[in-house]
This record gives sequence, structure tokens and C-alpha cells, in this order.
Amino acid sequence: MSRSASLFEQAQKHIPGGVNSPVRAFAGVGGTPLFIKHAEGAYITDEDDKRYVDYVGSWGPMILGHGHPQVLDAVRAQVDHGLSYGAPTALEVEMADMVCSLVPSLDMVRMVSSGTEATMSAIRLARGYTGRDSIIKFEGCYHGHSDSLLVKAGSGALTLGVPSSPGVPAAFAQHTITLPYNDIDAVAQCLAEKGNEVACIIVEPVAGNMNCIPPVPGFLEGLREQCDKHGVVLIFDEVMTGFRVALGGAQAHYGITPDLSTFGKVIGGGMPVACFGGKKEVMSHIAPLGPVYQAGTLSGNPLAMAAGLATLKLISRPGFHEGITDYASRLLKGLQERADAAGIPFTTTQAGGMFGLYFTDQQHITSFADSMTSNVEQFKQFFHLMLEGGVYLAPSAFEAGFVSSALGEKELQITLDAAENAFANMTA
Ligand code: PMP
Repeated sequence: MSRSASLFEQAQKHIPGGVNSPVRAFAGVGGTPLFIKHAEGAYITDEDDKRYVDYVGSWGPMILGHGHPQVLDAVRAQVDHGLSYGAPTALEVEMADMVCSLVPSLDMVRMVSSGTEATMSAIRLARGYTGRDSIIKFEGCYHGHSDSLLVKAGSGALTLGVPSSPGVPAAFAQHTITLPYNDIDAVAQCLAEKGNEVACIIVEPVAGNMNCIPPVPGFLEGLREQCDKHGVVLIFDEVMTGFRVALGGAQAHYGITPDLSTFGKVIGGGMPVACFGGKKEVMSHIAPLGPVYQAGTLSGNPLAMAAGLATLKLISRPGFHEGITDYASRLLKGLQERADAAGIPFTTTQAGGMFGLYFTDQQHITSFADSMTSNVEQFKQFFHLMLEGGVYLAPSAFEAGFVSSALGEKELQITLDAAENAFANMTA
């Protein structure tokens, strides 16, 4: 038995499903999750000493690759000064200044410890600011696991939401309206009916939790227009896209200014950091400036700030995002050529350094329904064959992939060779 397999068996005794976050369990692809003991540069190494080219990057944060020496040095330097104080620090001030200068729509930011907290707090703020209860989200978008956001669409486009998890009271879900992604007409229709009840629209400006679906031209622009028309707060959830699809996030890439934004993942460089921020007029409603309550024992933790700041400085160098975008483009082109040669129906999507892989003959993927046409059985086979070839992809057919700046020619070749072999040996 492999060490990963025996650890997985042991893990299941005291950890539900053997994992601390469900998608890690390989439920979407079958088999035993790899237990990781080391990560460096473009590679992760499992407990059985097998090394893999990594396209998960801890689900997004490791944009510099693993263990970047300058990030590690920044953390080591902070360790000697203590791990947490629960009092303000100079590092937090530097972080807030830096984030607000990188993302022009931010006048003020509040640090938190996870993307879930960031979106939950941004929504509370939008509700407190507008005095309205309802929120709009989109089918297939994920914004963390807070109650209001674990809601799926009701039977018709304009029906109220229903909980997507036991434990979420129907009364909470009632305030969450779920509409189809990339469908601005549905938004306009909904707001025409209920505009004065809606506090905010929260959207992933590139959807990265139903594979990877970029916005169609006009969608984000339309959201901005509709929000202005109805006095609704527009929240871009940039937990995944922030500092990744461009230095200034998807809002810089697509040129749309939201009222509030949430960031996570890259902002902490692998440490538990996220934030929400936006216009001063809205942010002034947060405690202690205003009445909307929000707090955190470890918020702005100095070790986490040190890692995040070092990461943001490194990715601010000219050409950084062009580099990861170019790698992703070459990777996708190479995969497409090999799939075509093997006669496998396959298509890809890309936004900067994030990408999606689809086993489908559909050419344009713009909605949740399009994403669901991807053949899960084929993805499972591909995933395991890639793993055998030394390449670690997200263990789900419906998650985005992430590129780091540690990936180079050698890793591209390993990946494309593994893919050629995988496509040739797929039977489904
Ligand atoms: N928003 C988005 C867009 C995300 O992708 C995620 C996590 N993948 C979250 C929020 C939640 O973040 P966390 O897992 O840090 O709570």
C-alpha cells in the first residue's frame, strides 16, 4: 500500500472524509488523494516521494511557485518578532497601502483570514449600507461557504433560492436570488421587478468554480449599468482572479469598476489572508467607523502579512503577468493540438494565468449548462493518466487550473508529453 493510501485510511478515523476541505478527497476523480510532504518551485512531492508538476498551486495562492526564497525569508524574518499580537502593526498599514495602490477601485480595505469571511463580510456591509436584504448571485459561482451563499437557483429564473446544503435555513436562502451567469437580460429583468429590494450583486468576474468561464463581452459592463440604475452595490469576488488575471485583477483586465471587491489566495502567498474593500463611502459603514460589525482575532496576522506583501511585491515586477499568461496560452495550444491529433473532443478557456479544460465538442463555453457538457468520465481518465505522467491537475472536472511563474520550458514539455500519452490511452 502506498504511504498516501495508508495515511488516507488513518486520516478517515478522526477527520471527516480524511480531509479538511471536501474537494481534496478526490471524490470527483476517484482513487486516493496524494498526501503532500514538500513543495518547491513548480513541483509538489507526495509522501511516496513522487514529484509532480503542479497546476493547482494550493488552489491559486502559489502564483510564484512553491517556497519562493524571498517569501520564505520575509516570513522567517517576522517569526523572530512573534506570531500574533491582536494589535495594529506597520505591516498591515503597508499591506493596505499596497493593495489600494494596485487596485484603483479600493479606497479602503479590511483584512480577514479566508475568502469565505471576505465575501460574507462584503455582503453584510452591502446590506447594512443599502438597508436592503436580498442579494443576487450567479449559478455555478462559488463565494465560500457562508449561509447566504450556499444557495442554488429555484425552479424558475426569478424564483427565490433554495439551500444547497442541509443546515442552511430556508429563510436565509430566501434572500438569495440566483441567476444564470453571463445573462445580462436575466439581471435586468430581475432588477426591474425587485430592484429596490436588492442590496448587492456578487459575481466572479471570471467564473473559476465551474471550470473556467470568462465573462462574455457586455456582461460585466451590463452589471455595472444595472447596479447604477437600481442603487445596487456591485461586488466583484476576486478571491481567485485577484492579482492573477492581471496585477489589478479582473477589474483591471476588463476595465470595470465595482463598488466592493474581495480578494484572497494570491494576496496571502500561501498564508491564510483575504480582504474586502472598496469605495470609502461604503467602507465607512464598517466598525469601528460605522455600525456594520465585522472582526477577527487573527485578521492582519503579521506572518501572513509578511508573506502576502513579499508576494505582491514580486508579482508587481513588469512582465510578470504576461509571463504566466504566455505559459498558459502555450500549454493550452499544446494540449489542444494533442487532443485533436488523438481525435478527442476537447476545448479550453483561459483568463491570464488561469485556465479551463473541457472534454466536449461544444466550442463556446459561456454558461453553467455549457460547462456541464464536459464528459466527467473522460476527465477522470485524463486526470489519472496525467498523474501517472507526473502532472498534478485539480482533482475535479469543474475546477480552474492555475499557472505559476515557476513553470518553464521543461515543465511544459513534461506536461505535453504526459498529455500526448494520456489522450492516446483514453478509452471513454
Ligand atoms: N470566492 C471565490 C471566487 C473562491 O474561489 C473561493 C475559494 N475557492 C472563495 C470565495 C472562498 O475562499 P476560502 O476557501 O478561502 O474561504
